[in-house]
Amino acid sequence: MLIIIIVLGIGRQCVALRALNGAQAVRRGFASSERDEEPSTSENELFDIIISGGGMVGTAMACSLGLEPNLAGKKILLLEAGHKKEMNRVPETYSTRVSSISPGSAMLLSGLGAWDHIVNMRCKPYNKMQVWDACSDALITFDKENLQDEMAYIVENDVIVAALTKQLQTLSDHVEVQYRTKVVKYTWPHPYHVSESIPWVQVTLANGKTLHTKLLIGADGPNSMVRREAGIPTVKWNYDQSAVVAVLHLSEPTENNVAWQRFLPTGPIAMLPLSDTESSLVWSTSHQHAEELLQLDEESFVDAINSAFWSNENHSELVETAGSLFRTALSVLMPDSGSARQLPPSVAGIGPKSRVMFPLGMGHATEYIRHRVAIIGDAAHRVHPLAGQGANLGFGDVAYLTKVLSQAAFNGKDLGKSMQHLLEFETERQRHNLPMMAAVDLMKRLYSTNAAPMVLLRTFGLQATNTLPPLKEQIMAYASK
Ligand SMILES: Cc1cc2nc3c(=O)[nH]c(=O)nc-3n(C[C@H](O)[C@H](O)[C@H](O)COP(=O)(O)OP(=O)(O)OC[C@H]3O[C@@H](n4cnc5c(N)ncnc54)[C@H](O)[C@@H]3O)c2cc1C
Repeated sequence: MLIIIIVLGIGRQCVALRALNGAQAVRRGFASSERDEEPSTSENELFDIIISGGGMVGTAMACSLGLEPNLAGKKILLLEAGHKKEMNRVPETYSTRVSSISPGSAMLLSGLGAWDHIVNMRCKPYNKMQVWDACSDALITFDKENLQDEMAYIVENDVIVAALTKQLQTLSDHVEVQYRTKVVKYTWPHPYHVSESIPWVQVTLANGKTLHTKLLIGADGPNSMVRREAGIPTVKWNYDQSAVVAVLHLSEPTENNVAWQRFLPTGPIAMLPLSDTESSLVWSTSHQHAEELLQLDEESFVDAINSAFWSNENHSELVETAGSLFRTALSVLMPDSGSARQLPPSVAGIGPKSRVMFPLGMGHATEYIRHRVAIIGDAAHRVHPLAGQGANLGFGDVAYLTKVLSQAAFNGKDLGKSMQHLLEFETERQRHNLPMMAAVDLMKRLYSTNAAPMVLLRTFGLQATNTLPPLKEQIMAYASK
């Protein structure tokens, strides 16, 4: 409940942001004319759009722009420091890096022609989620009324990039791609000096080559060089947690269509379905505990996982009694609501060399655009993985930025200088991303303690929310965008 109130409050503040943005445009140095005034240049390497960073979000951006009819004829380039990720055959073993992909993102990927490739490679839908507290009996379940409907899909990150890469190959007439190409420097044009000889963003590559672009899209991840060099202020902090990820072998085959997440005082542990016999682990815990988990032998690691999902060592009598009274009261008021607790499958082993850890943090760029620059994905916002939203927020950016650039091109505007369109992208995406990020951060904090008052507060909140199907529907609808 508390989360919803805060989310709505922030949502309203974001509407105010929209009004502020007009004034900010002047500060950010947009020239008043938005019309495309093409200066004469003999520069061969001038692109309309350069996307820096070909991870999941940057590659989706390249596909999306390449498919947009209004952008046909524009010169578009994707630069990626890493190698080309192709997948002629899916590897036998699952990758440790997976994402829960929302129906909204699946729809976007489908529109890009990549979803069919993903389904043909490997992905696992799930239609139920159970989230519960290790310090009490409180739980919440989300399920699709019609069990044929998918709540979301677990897909390996490499499979998503490979599917997008395959699709991008069919767009080679519209989008050029350079792999193993690292950008080492960006030089920005001065927004007011229109008479400057090079009014474009200059992109210097590690191989010494220099390119120019009318619009630079930064999709270069959480440590974005585009964001840093453009001087975009960022609110960020490191969490006192790292995520340990691994591929888990289940004790016995199951339908495995439930995503499980339990909040331990040290952080959430999640088990996400990959197949009938395998699941993916995302265990967020203190850095020291994460290090220890990586050092454990396989048997002890598996025991630690099973105990984290099953043990009641963090329960207290006070919270259990209060929680049980509250649950009884709720069941009298709303007899048919709520849902029964299910037990997660037990784990028997882990995939070979599958344990890796990542430090976790949160970051949000206060601006997503500057003169001739837009940032998307983790370059603009980084969230804790507890709600499985990072990549989904990035795909949302892709859809909206494509929409506004298409409109700008249709209206004959200079894509990098079209302030009205770029500001619309920033406002709309901040309105969506900020409340989600605030809710995720609040959840992380709310569950990072076993102090009795906080445990009671969240126990009542979770139990009450669990008995309100319309509220759960709203939460599901918001998270599935
Ligand atoms: C443990 C964990 C679990 C997660 N689970 C989920 C989940 O279930 N669902 C979900 O939606 N999200 C999840 N996320 C978040 C998700 O992984 C990220 O949001 C997503 O990977 C961000 O993608 P991106 O393309 O923006 O950035 P990145 O994946 O960081 O890609 C950036 C790309 O830019 C390239 N690059 C960087 N600098 C340069 C340069 N100078 N020149 C050229 N190229 C450059 C890099 O090589 C890289 O390929 C999870 C994250 C973690 C850590």
